Formats: sequence, C-alpha cells, structure tokens
Amino acid sequence: MSTATRGSRDNGTDPIFEDLRGAFIEQFGHERKPSVLARAPGRVNLIGGHTDYNDGFVLPTTVDRAVYVALRPRTDERVRLHSQNFGEEVEYALSKPHVSSLPQWAQYVAGVAEELRTKYGLDAGFEGVLFGNVPLGAGLSSSAALEVAAAEGLTRLFGIDLGAEEMALLCQRVEHTYVGVQCGVMDQMAVRFGRAGNALSLDCRTLEYEHVPLPLGEASIVIADSRVSRELAASKYNERRAECEEGVTFFQQFDDSIEALRDVSRELFEQHAGELGDTIRRRCRHVISENERVRRSADALKEEDLDACGTLMSTAHESLRGDYEVSIEKLDLLVETARATDGAYGARMTGAGFGGCVVCLVADAGVPVLQRRLTERYEEQFGRKPTLYVVEKNLEVTTRRADVPICEEERRSG
Ligand code: ADP
Ligand code: MG
Repeated sequence: MSTATRGSRDNGTDPIFEDLRGAFIEQFGHERKPSVLARAPGRVNLIGGHTDYNDGFVLPTTVDRAVYVALRPRTDERVRLHSQNFGEEVEYALSKPHVSSLPQWAQYVAGVAEELRTKYGLDAGFEGVLFGNVPLGAGLSSSAALEVAAAEGLTRLFGIDLGAEEMALLCQRVEHTYVGVQCGVMDQMAVRFGRAGNALSLDCRTLEYEHVPLPLGEASIVIADSRVSRELAASKYNERRAECEEGVTFFQQFDDSIEALRDVSRELFEQHAGELGDTIRRRCRHVISENERVRRSADALKEEDLDACGTLMSTAHESLRGDYEVSIEKLDLLVETARATDGAYGARMTGAGFGGCVVCLVADAGVPVLQRRLTERYEEQFGRKPTLYVVEKNLEVTTRRADVPICEEERRSG
C-alpha cells in the first residue's frame, strides 16, 4: 500500500526480509543467522459479508502488506520468539507451551507449533523474529497472515509436508483452539491461496476456489480503517450466527436436506418469508442475497465490468446495514462519502462490522479526492482521521511480492 514506510518490494528480494534477517542476528547473535524467512499477506474481502459461516461464498483479495517470520532451529527444545511490533520476547519449552499464558501475539505462533508438534512430528525447539505491516486488528487479517507465515516457515524449517489446504485448516484450528476466536476459514484460505492482482472466489463449504484476475486497469482498491475498536463485534457475531441457525431450523421443515442458509433458494425463501419474524427474515434475506451478489461479482470481474462490481458492493453495504444490522454510523459515513466521490464505482464495509474497514473501488483519477474527502468528512463528524490505504496494483511489482506466502531459504547459513 502506498503508505508503506519500509520501502517498496520488488520481484526479486523483499527488503523487509533483509531487515528481518538483520533483526534476527541482532536478537540472537552473529553466529545465528535465520535458516528460513517466510511471509504471508493480509487480505481484504471485496464482497461476501457474513456468508462464510453460512457455508456460502466470499471474494477476498490479498493486500500488499504481509507478516514476516525469520526462523532458525535449535538443538534443545526451547522456543524463543521476538516480536518487533510489540518489542517483546517470550521463551518456553516446546513440549510444555502453556499457550494461554503467553502474550496473545505469541499464542498464534505457539499454537501453530503445537499443532505441528502433536500431529506432524515437529520435534525440536526454534527461535524466531516476527514483524508485520498489516495493521493489527483492523480487519485485514493480520492474525491469519501471522498464522500462515508461521506455518509456512515452520513446515519448511522442519521439512514437514503439509498441503496448502491442510495448512489453512490447521491455522483456522489454531485461531479456534489456542486464541479462542471462532472464525470461518476464509481468512486462512485467502491468505494461503491468494495471488496479488486476483480475487479468490471461494466456496466456504467445499473450499473449492478460483483465482479471478482483478481487471483494475485505471482503478484502485482503497481501504479506509474507521479505527473503531471492534468490542461489540464478538457478541454481535455470535448473535448473528444464532439467528442464522434459527433461520436454518425454520427452512428445514420444508426441506430436510438444508444444512445452512446457503442451501435456501431464493424461491423457497420468498415462498415462506412471510411466516418468519421480522429479524430472522431480514438476516436470512441478507445471507441469501449476499451469496447471489458474490457470484455475480465474480462474473462481473470476469467480464471486466467494474460498474457492475461497484454497484454490487454498494448494494451489499445496504444489505449489511439494513437487513443484517452490523454497520455503524462511522462506517456508513465512509461508504456514503466514497460513493459520492467522482470516479467511485462502489464501497462497502468489510469484515464482521461494528468497526474495522470500508473497501472502495475507485478510478485512479478519483483517488486523491477520495482520500481528502474521506479524511475531511470523517474528522469533521467524529473528530479523528480514518487510516487510508491505497492497495498498490502495479502487477510488475505485486505479482510475486505480496503473492501467496513465500519462503526464502538461506542455505548458506545452514
Ligand atoms: P485482524 O486479524 O483483523 O488484524 P485480530 O484481532 O484477529 O485482527 O488479530 C490481531 C492480533 O494478531 C494482534 O493483536 C496480535 O496478537 C496478532 N498479530 C498480528 N500481526 C502481528 C505481528 N506482526 N506481530 C505479532 N503479532 C501480530
Ligand atoms: Mg483476525
């Protein structure tokens, strides 16, 4: 993203890897160069809000920021981890991780290591330095990026053969079991499989996916972080999940093959919508219509129809705001401001809601005005600035850079 402060990353080497290599040596001493460097990008979901846990469809794309790890094996069974973002270090015994007593940032890595130890035979300690420039807790999935970077690095370090889908599922399990966040699998799949310059059209039930090139041409993706902490998000998230389950139970009386809202056709919904209470009816209507919008958006991308894509994004926001009720005034203001800007194709809130980010699709010529207006109007109304990111789309640069997680091995240091 253009606000990146650590230099641009070219196709060959990513300067952040160089920085991290230096930081590793500084941390652990000169004779201890890292053996493996790995990174995994953050992601933004273009459309498909709250469809993942309804076994539905999503359309995320990776961003040009990542979480990085530098690792080296140890001959004993100690694990030492240093976080550059937090300026903290932890040390523990591999076989007695006590994950829940570690600081949260270390829980993700320790969780990955524990899964690999108990199920894939990881059998020695290691030391590592972590750094990331994916904003933490903004909804761009820094947590999945950290998990996948750690999994990518540790499997390479210990020669563990782990398929990409298995890795995404392992990372999701880490988030559930060790961190206590009951997330869907979209984030880990998007991070593990995402390709720069492409959206990942993903079926969250079957995990079938397709890379759909983003025909951005003279357009860009701009992300505005409301910087509202998502405190309400967890309880509301659980409430929405329960409401969806209520919807599923209702529709099962007409068709017992229905397992999730994904299986409820528009016809069946319309036939019986009147028998549902207002709240559940609107929740179901959002999920059913959102799944349709995701599929139409993937088609629109293939037809290089950004107008259609933008309109679908804006309609998705209205549905998330009105029917699903997960937006807030601050997100609405950002979306409305974006949509009223010349050159904007569309905008919507992204992520669980109650804070987090808005994603906008806008013609390049409109980007400076969009940035200015978002900042001015938000500050006028709420007394603080949003954080803005323009996702770099220069394919020459991004295709291999913020691509699927990559590993760089330093055999010389081995
Ligand atoms: P999101 O995934 O939307 O960014 P989460 O709350 O799921 O938000 O994950 C954020 C957490 O992930 C951070 O609080 C931290 O514990 C961990 N994390 C993310 N990036 C890093 C990093 N670069 N270094 C250490 N921990 C990180
Ligand atoms: Mg997360």
